Amino acid sequence: MSKGTSISKLFAPEKPLFSIEFFPPKNEAGGEKMLKSAAALKPHNPDFVSITYGAGGGTRKTTMHYAKVLKNEFGFEVMPHLTCVGHTKTELLEILEEFAEEGFCNIMALRGDPPQGEDQFRPVVGGLSYATELVSLIRKFFPHFGIGVGGYPEKHPESPSKKIDLLHLKEKVDAGADFITTQLFFDNQVYFQFLEDCKTAKIEIPVLPGLLPVQSIGQVQRFCKMCEASLPKELQERLEKVEKEEQTGVGTDWAKKQVKELITRRAPGFHLYALNQSEASLRILEWLKK
Ligand SMILES: Cc1cc2nc3c(=O)[nH]c(=O)nc-3n(C[C@H](O)[C@H](O)[C@H](O)COP(=O)(O)OP(=O)(O)OC[C@H]3O[C@@H](n4cnc5c(N)ncnc54)[C@H](O)[C@@H]3O)c2cc1C
Repeated sequence: MSKGTSISKLFAPEKPLFSIEFFPPKNEAGGEKMLKSAAALKPHNPDFVSITYGAGGGTRKTTMHYAKVLKNEFGFEVMPHLTCVGHTKTELLEILEEFAEEGFCNIMALRGDPPQGEDQFRPVVGGLSYATELVSLIRKFFPHFGIGVGGYPEKHPESPSKKIDLLHLKEKVDAGADFITTQLFFDNQVYFQFLEDCKTAKIEIPVLPGLLPVQSIGQVQRFCKMCEASLPKELQERLEKVEKEEQTGVGTDWAKKQVKELITRRAPGFHLYALNQSEASLRILEWLKK
């Protein structure tokens, strides 16, 4: 069984890395689609792929299953996500133990959103309240794990201010996080400002920009509303001007422009929220090779 590489070792100033995010499919058809996308993306050799932990914490089995498939059948370096939602500390340790036994050595450590219908995050009895606690737990019991955490260039929706959000981000870093992957953003200036803010807050680990190649105006509006990210007027207008079937092209071109500037300005790489689809990511990756 491959032992894997800590993602923290993959960041190199002279070589921007790229990663792809998948989510655990809900059914067999979704699973086939996801694996087809993974197969199409494989020749581009992403530095790592990640697989999310479903909202509400209910995907323990499917996240594990597909993480194993992506690692063992495709040979990807895989970073499974893990959230605190609905789990006691003991259960979290069991899940981490299972990942370790299966040869994973990277985890994206998250608190998670409140389950549907609840407006506030409440830990279960014996559970954890914040991602920082999960990072500390992983560092204590699995010191060899590479740990990623989420960062919010436009601030986390629950946070009263950017400044307070950054203080809590710094706590995650001090607890042992190796790198930050950002929430999606569509204006690179938002990311560059976040880098400045991190520097001021003495956050010195790599900040990997997270990009969503937009597929449709409806989709991007839903996402922006959900995570309180801003949608630049120019992108909205470009999407509104074209028919639905052309919107993916507009979204891909926008993402290409973002990637190019990020790399030129020495971002550590980019992370694509591919949503189990390969088309837009492939177009970006093929264009980058030219
Ligand atoms: C890259 C990325 C990947 C993601 N993947 C998933 C996934 O796989 N599954 C999923 O369900 N969700 C995922 N999410 C969404 C994430 O779970 C939500 O945004 C969630 O609401 C916050 O998780 P967190 O880990 O950032 O929480 P935290 O870092 O714990 O922060 C949550 C809120 O609490 C505040 N806070 C932190 N510490 C303290 C403290 N000590 N006292 C008071 N306030 C505090 C923060 O400022 C913030 O407002 C992802 C997000 C990102 C950016």
